Amino acid sequence: MRMVAYHTIQHTTASLPLQTRARLWYRTAMVSATDDYDVIIAGASYAGLTATRHLNRHGHRVLLLDEHAIGAVRHSACAVPTRTLADVGGLSSSVQETAWGVIHTKLNTVRYRSPEPWTIFDHRAVCDTLRVQAPHVPFLQARITQFDGHAVTTDKGRFTAHCFLDATGWRAALASARQPGFIDRGRVTIGMEVTVPHRTDAMHFYVNREIVRWGYGWIFPCGDTSRVGIGAFDNPKGIPDLLRAFLRRLGMSDDLRSVERTGGFLPWQQRPAVLDNLWLLGDAAGHCLPLTGEGIRFAFQDGDLAGHLLDEMLAGTRTWDTASAIYASTIERHRRRIGSFTHLQNFVRHVPNAAFAPMAWLLARRAVCSWGLTRYLNWEHDAVPDVP
Ligand SMILES: Cc1cc2nc3c(=O)[nH]c(=O)nc-3n(C[C@H](O)[C@H](O)[C@H](O)COP(=O)(O)OP(=O)(O)OC[C@H]3O[C@@H](n4cnc5c(N)ncnc54)[C@H](O)[C@@H]3O)c2cc1C
Repeated sequence: MRMVAYHTIQHTTASLPLQTRARLWYRTAMVSATDDYDVIIAGASYAGLTATRHLNRHGHRVLLLDEHAIGAVRHSACAVPTRTLADVGGLSSSVQETAWGVIHTKLNTVRYRSPEPWTIFDHRAVCDTLRVQAPHVPFLQARITQFDGHAVTTDKGRFTAHCFLDATGWRAALASARQPGFIDRGRVTIGMEVTVPHRTDAMHFYVNREIVRWGYGWIFPCGDTSRVGIGAFDNPKGIPDLLRAFLRRLGMSDDLRSVERTGGFLPWQQRPAVLDNLWLLGDAAGHCLPLTGEGIRFAFQDGDLAGHLLDEMLAGTRTWDTASAIYASTIERHRRRIGSFTHLQNFVRHVPNAAFAPMAWLLARRAVCSWGLTRYLNWEHDAVPDVP
């Protein structure tokens, strides 16, 4: 274990509120001689890796942790606006790009053109692209089991730091370890998906209660294959059966064992973004959008914001206090927009199945589609204010 430089301890605590400062000084006094890192980033997926690339300076003592090898496990259908992928330097991981979408309801099928293209990408390739942008940040494959606010306990040992980023996805491993009951399992969408041989030129959405009572099915194009999945907002039991029935309805094999299968939970619970010296990012903070289930774009944005602020703090140009306040307030504005999608998702629950047809028709009108999707695609965190 390395010594923590005194000036680092000082500048990270200088302007914290009194109570927090007292807690940190207490911890500092007790354990500063054995602190390992300035920052520990838990979770090496979209949010964690994006934050890491800002913390690549030799002087920063940063550790990146994940229970899996980087890029080894895909939980997602991996569809993002092409612009989002370009922003993180990941265009080379693109498998298929399309601007076309198709909405299927019980009574009609409508096709629309997005004002900007979307890309379905290769998960491992994007993770590799992000990882090479931070070669000086060490990575440790280790499962996190405990967190007490100052040290992370893993199956490979215990590591201390001044501050922590929780980018461990919907489980929020650090925040949950610190606050039992942190996760509300009633406010997660369950998603399951298979990759099957099937070619298409568009992203298809199935909004039909005969397929899933409260949720939607999808087919996303991916070269010679397609990613076919079901998402249910109320996390019901029996999602594999729903997916099998959906595949049969599409005239595809319903044998889930013979194809690549993935799945998981999409949190739409608003969780705190800052807990003392812990910041939450991406799905850990509940930033997956209700209704659409889009989360990768916001995980990238959270990672960029958190990484940028922490870099400035570690370089001594911003205090922890200011950085935390900017992170919290930016996320708060993001949350207000997420809230409107929670209302829409709740509204959809009460819409009769037949009413989806005229709604889909309206959404696919060129003017409506262009206006709505342009606003949706421009959804970005505010820029970080310059250091005065
Ligand atoms: C079926 C499905 C399809 C989806 N499709 C899309 C889509 O097309 N487009 C889109 O934008 N979003 C989609 N999403 C949502 C998207 O996957 C998430 O919003 C996104 O992955 C969040 O990124 P993240 O970095 O916050 O967390 P994650 O990508 O979930 O990464 C969390 C990381 O933390 C690690 N971790 C977790 N617990 C521990 C622990 N205890 N110890 C150590 N490491 C740990 C994990 O191994 C993982 O690498 C989909 C989700 C699902 C379930």
